[in-house]
Amino acid sequence: MRLSIVVPCYNEEDVIDTFDARVRATLNALDIEHELCYIDDGSSDATLEHLRVLAERNADTTRYVSFSRNFGKEAGMLAGLREATGDAVVIMDADLQHPPELLERMLELHAAGHDQVVARRTREGDRFLRSLLSRVYYRLINKMVDVELTNGVGDFRLLSRRAVDALLSLPEYNRFSKGLFSWIGFDTVTFDYDNVAREAGATKWRFSSLVNYGIDGLISFNSRPLRLGIHAGLTLSGLAVLYAIWTTVAAIIGGISQPGYVTLIVAIAGLGGLQMVMIGLVGEYIGRIYYESKRRPHFLIKETNVPRETFRGPGAGVQAVLSRSAVIPQERWPAEASTTVGRPTA
Ligand code: UDP
Ligand code: MG
Repeated sequence: MRLSIVVPCYNEEDVIDTFDARVRATLNALDIEHELCYIDDGSSDATLEHLRVLAERNADTTRYVSFSRNFGKEAGMLAGLREATGDAVVIMDADLQHPPELLERMLELHAAGHDQVVARRTREGDRFLRSLLSRVYYRLINKMVDVELTNGVGDFRLLSRRAVDALLSLPEYNRFSKGLFSWIGFDTVTFDYDNVAREAGATKWRFSSLVNYGIDGLISFNSRPLRLGIHAGLTLSGLAVLYAIWTTVAAIIGGISQPGYVTLIVAIAGLGGLQMVMIGLVGEYIGRIYYESKRRPHFLIKETNVPRETFRGPGAGVQAVLSRSAVIPQERWPAEASTTVGRPTA
C-alpha cells in the first residue's frame, strides 16, 4: 500500500516547510510507504524555490509540478491526481488547516473498505455571517442540484485508486470538485474534525470569489435553473392575464379610471430585472459551452521533477496536459502529442 499526498500550493512560502515536516513525521510514524505531490499554482513568492529544496532533500518521495501561471486550485488538484501514483491519494491544503494527524483515521477507514474517506470540518471560528450564509446556501443548493453537496466538506479527503481514476476520466474544463467527488459515487464515509486556523500566510478567498464559487456549484451540475426561469415566466404570464381580466372587468363595471402609475413602474422594473437575470443565466451556460468547446488544457507546466512517463496523459510532464488525456489509453497516444500544446491530434 502506497499513499500519495496531493498538495496544491499558491503563495505558501511561509508554511510549506512546516507542512512538509509535519506530514512526513506523521507518515513515518505510521510506517507507510508514501509520496508527496506538490503543485505550485503559479506562485509569485518563493514557493517554487522551497519545493525545489524539499524535492532535493527527499528525492524519492517528493514530486512537484510548477504551473506557468495561476490556474486555480481545481487545476492544481487535477494535476496532483494525475501525478500521483499511490494506491490511495489524500488531497490536503498546504496551510495545515487539514491536520496531518487525521491521516491515521483516514487510512483505517480506507482499510475498512471505503473508497472515499471525507473529513468534514466544523464551522467553529468562522465569522457568524459567513457560516450562516453557507448554511443557507447549502440548504438551497441541495434542492437544486442533482449531486449531494455538504456544508463543511471540502477537498480534504482520501480517495482510493479507482475513485481517482474515475475522477481523471471526467474530461470537463470547468471543474467543480465538490460536485465531481459526489458524482463519481463509490462507498463514502465522513467524519468530523474541529476547524483549525491557518498556520501562516493568508487565505486566497475573498467574498466575491465565494459568491462566484456558489454560482459555479449551482450551474455545474444541471440545467435546473433554466427550468426555474421557465416556471417564473409562466407564473408571471398567468398573473398578467389575471390582472388584465381584472382591470377589464373593473372598467366595465366602474367605468374607465386612471390605472396605477406605481403598478406600471413596479411591473416594468421587476420584469426587467428578472429578464436580465435569466439572460445572464443563459449566457453563463453558453459561456461554459464555449470554454468546453475550446478544449484547452487545464494547465500548463513550467517546471517539474516528475518523469514524463509517470504523468498520466499525452504531453504531460513537459508541456501541457490535455483535457482528454485521461480517456486515451497510453498505446493510442499520438506520437506528436508530446510536443503539442493544447491541440490534441487523436
Ligand atoms: N490554492 C491554490 N491555488 C489558488 C488558491 C489556493 O493552489 O489559486 C491552494 C492554497 O495554497 C491552499 C489551498 O488551495 O493550499 C486552500 O487555499 P486557502 O487556504 O486560501 O483557502 P481556505 O482554506 O481559506 O478555504
Ligand atoms: Mg486554508
